[in-house]
Amino acid sequence: MTFRVIAGPCAVESEEQIDRLAAKVASTGVRWLRAGAWKPRTSATSFQGLGRLGCEYAARAARRHDLKLVTEVLDVRDAEWAAQHIDVAQIGARNMHNVPLLREVARSFDAILLKRSNSATLDEWSGAVGYVLEQNPNVRLIVCERGLRGFDPSLRNQLDLAGALLMKLRHPDLEVFVDPSHATGRAELVRPLVRAVKAAGLDGALIEVHDAPTDALCDGEQAIDLETLTAIVSEVGA
Ligand code: PEP
Ligand code: MN
Repeated sequence: MTFRVIAGPCAVESEEQIDRLAAKVASTGVRWLRAGAWKPRTSATSFQGLGRLGCEYAARAARRHDLKLVTEVLDVRDAEWAAQHIDVAQIGARNMHNVPLLREVARSFDAILLKRSNSATLDEWSGAVGYVLEQNPNVRLIVCERGLRGFDPSLRNQLDLAGALLMKLRHPDLEVFVDPSHATGRAELVRPLVRAVKAAGLDGALIEVHDAPTDALCDGEQAIDLETLTAIVSEVGA
């Protein structure tokens, strides 16, 4: 199977922003766009995303530029509606243990990207896989390591590459991805880590990209620019 890169902004910020970024992402050869419409933020006063409207903007942009759309679904009440707009539903790290959401998303979607919680053991992550597959045995399931909570604030999280590899050994039929953006919180570490993920034999990477990272409404410090995305695609494919 070829190595797959999913790339795009942390969040949909406006209709113009997501259309512009979708065009730029498509021009690098990447075929799958990530874009958050519902943002699970630590603070209630941070930007929460544009919700259904953002989802509609992202869906239009993805269609216009012939991209598949990966967007996090945060609330069971949005799952059925979102399935009309999104190709791949992301279950975020904070919701890996949310069984009603796992079940509802599994019922509504035929492709899901399931992140590992920042404190989940592999058994707990596998447990979440089990809830999805029990509801929808035919789902295309991608699991994604995105870093664990560690002791060192130099990095946002600690990337558990070995854990991702062990997950692949335990579940050879699943696609195992790594998200180096949330795993590190640092844009300059993303490109070498994508090379490491491919060299390790895993299936793909989920990457945050922005054309004006310092103006991004969330996670700008970990967003790579389009030149770096182009370099990544030339190194690992798309
Ligand atoms: C994201 O991908 O934008 C995100 C919120 O990720 P996580 O759930 O891994 O924090
Ligand atoms: Mn983010």
